[in-house]
Amino acid sequence: MKQGILNLSREEVTEFLADKGVPKYRMTQIFTWLLRFGKTNFAEMSNIDISLRLVLDKLFYIYRPKIIRTNKSIDGTVKFLLELTDKNTIETVFIPERQRNTICVSSQVGCAIGCKFCNTGYHGFIRNLSTEEIVSQFLIVKDYLDLWHSQTERLSNVVFMGMGEPLLNYENVLKSINLLILDEKDHISRRKITLSTSGITDVLKNSAKDLPCRLAISLHAPNDSIRSKIMPINNIYNIKSILESCREYEKYHEYLKITFEYLLLDGVNDSIECAYELLNLLSGRNFKVNLLQFNSWPGCKFKPSPRNRVLNFAKILENGGVEAPIRMRRGEDIMAACGQLKST
Ligand code: SF4
Repeated sequence: MKQGILNLSREEVTEFLADKGVPKYRMTQIFTWLLRFGKTNFAEMSNIDISLRLVLDKLFYIYRPKIIRTNKSIDGTVKFLLELTDKNTIETVFIPERQRNTICVSSQVGCAIGCKFCNTGYHGFIRNLSTEEIVSQFLIVKDYLDLWHSQTERLSNVVFMGMGEPLLNYENVLKSINLLILDEKDHISRRKITLSTSGITDVLKNSAKDLPCRLAISLHAPNDSIRSKIMPINNIYNIKSILESCREYEKYHEYLKITFEYLLLDGVNDSIECAYELLNLLSGRNFKVNLLQFNSWPGCKFKPSPRNRVLNFAKILENGGVEAPIRMRRGEDIMAACGQLKST
């Protein structure tokens, strides 16, 4: 039976081919065709011997999910509903900006973490995505938007902020990141990939050394009492354990600042007291806070904080020396914004 070549790491492909007498440099050529030129057919890999192309075709397939639907926002954001081989569906979002183009990828079908403000969590967990199902989200967006040949329109950033908790599918996520940064010539460097986690601190501590990318942590509260109400996972991994695990990451990535995501919810975590408590919690360390404005979804009880409260919150953090940009809402009109994704 054929294997998905995008489920294998470069080391695995090298080893696999070495058994068949194929030299190591062929692996680089193959992955360049797959990731830099987006080929879906071994026959088109023109600098590889025809006999090897036939062998590759016998051994491997090149995966792409099926695009079921796309929605384009007035701000240019495009949301993709993708169908996987087993008919499960996931969402992936393309976010164009002036300086960069970002893809927000999913790591699981659904999510088991159950954050109260999140549409994905509300619909529960189905399964982990395989490596090829993660990497191919990046590839299919490039296919669809025809970004393979453009010098100006690049997919420059990847964020693991779609459906799922990436650290609960760590092995496949790590393999995917390593495949994507293989393609550094296409401007995907480890500094432009961000893994966002709700704070699975035991996985984070163990993986801190090997995690080849930036780290963002969904904090959303300045203390355990508020955090546990909106993120039940806090009852297992509390704020103290998160801050401790950050030290482990910082040991190996001192040049990469950790970001804390903070979703401002009206009357829940957006008071002046909360802002000062957050400042107290994070000041003195090299952290950044991204202030996110809440995006509503049908059936959700939370409301976004009023604009003046968001501005006050940001001011308190900035005045206290903590960088705290207010993130623009993107794709809200097509339910593609943070916390709005689901599988239908
Ligand atoms: Fe899962 Fe992230 Fe949604 Fe929380 S916010 S339920 S971790 S997808």
